[in-house]
Amino acid sequence: MLSWDIVEHGKPLQKVMRETPAPKGSEVLMRITRSGVCHSDLHIWEGYFELGGGKRFYVKERGCVPPFTPGHEPFGVVEALGPRAKGVRVGQKRLIYPWIGCGKCAVCKAGQDNYCISGSRYLGVNRPGAYSTHVLVPDAKYLIDTTGVEDGFAATLACSAVTAYSAATKLPQIGPRDSIALLGCGGLGLIAISVLRARGVRNIIGCDIDDAKLAAAAKLGAKKTINTRAPDALQQMQGIAGAIDFVGSPATAALGIAALRKGGRYVICGLYGGELVHPLPPIAQRAIGIVGSYVGSLQELKEVVALAKKGRLRQAPVQTRSANEANSALEDLKAGKIIGRVVLDFESISPA
Ligand SMILES: [Zn+2]
Ligand SMILES: [Zn+2]
Repeated sequence: MLSWDIVEHGKPLQKVMRETPAPKGSEVLMRITRSGVCHSDLHIWEGYFELGGGKRFYVKERGCVPPFTPGHEPFGVVEALGPRAKGVRVGQKRLIYPWIGCGKCAVCKAGQDNYCISGSRYLGVNRPGAYSTHVLVPDAKYLIDTTGVEDGFAATLACSAVTAYSAATKLPQIGPRDSIALLGCGGLGLIAISVLRARGVRNIIGCDIDDAKLAAAAKLGAKKTINTRAPDALQQMQGIAGAIDFVGSPATAALGIAALRKGGRYVICGLYGGELVHPLPPIAQRAIGIVGSYVGSLQELKEVVALAKKGRLRQAPVQTRSANEANSALEDLKAGKIIGRVVLDFESISPA
C-alpha cells in the first residue's frame, strides 16, 4: 500500500510504500478511492493545537506520533474481510465512519463513539487514516452504503457534513423568524447551510472575512452574508438565536457570543485556537449557552447520508485532485485558497 505520511510535523508529507495489512477478526480492509482534506488535518500536520496564553496541545499526546497517516474523510471499496467480518461483500463501495471509539465503554455502548472516554481509534487522528490506498476498519458496522451520492461528495460527509449536523442539533429550538449565524464559510460552513435548511432553518447568516466564500454561501442559500471585518459586523448580527462557530478563534467566539439574543446558544466546533475570556454574570443574566461539539456519531452520519440520498444537501464545491497533490492541497487550504472541499483521488494511483 501507498500512504502519504507525516514523517516530521510541519514538513511535506512523504509518499511511503509498506506492506498492505491482512484483516484479522472482524476487520475489513478497504481500498481507498477518495479522501477529503479537512482543516483539522492542518493541525495534525503541524503537530499541535493553539490553546492561547502561549500554551499548546501536542497531538503526540493522544497517540499521533510520526510517521503517521492522516485523513479522516475516507471512501473506498471493500477489498478483503477478516474471518469474522460480516455485513459487506468484496467489491462494495462504502463510506467509512472514522470516529471509532473503543467499542466497550459506556459512551461507545450508547452509540457515541465520537465521545469515547477510554481509547478512541479515530482514523487519521490516532489510527492510520485515509491519505492512503488502504485502510483497516475494525468492523463492518462502520461502513455506510451511499449509493446515489457522488463518491467525492460522499467522502466529505464523514467529517464536514456530520460535524455541521451534530452542531446543529445543539442549537436551541428555532422559530420561523429566528436567525442562525455560521461563523466561517469554508468546507464546513458551506455544507452547514444545507444541513440547517434541511432542518427547517430559513434565516441563515453566513459570516466570513473572505468575500469569495461569502458569495459561495449566498449561492448555497444563506439569506444574508456579513464580512466580519466590517466595523459594524456585530450590529449586523445582533439578536441571533444561535451561532455555530466553524473557526473557533478568540475573534469569532467573541462575535458569536456577543450577538446572541437572550436564551441564545453559541456552538463551537472550530479548532483554530486561542482562549475565551468572558465576564460571568451576563452568561447567567442573558441565559445564554456555550456548547462544544466534536464531529458526530455513527447514527448522525447515517442521518446525513439519508439526507444526501434524498438530494436534501446542496453540494458545496468539491475539487478532486490526484493524491500526488496532497501537499499542495494542504498548503492551499492553509492559505485560505480553497472554496468548499478538496478531495484526493487515490483510485488513479493505486499500486494494484
Ligand atoms: Zn475534519
Ligand atoms: Zn469507548
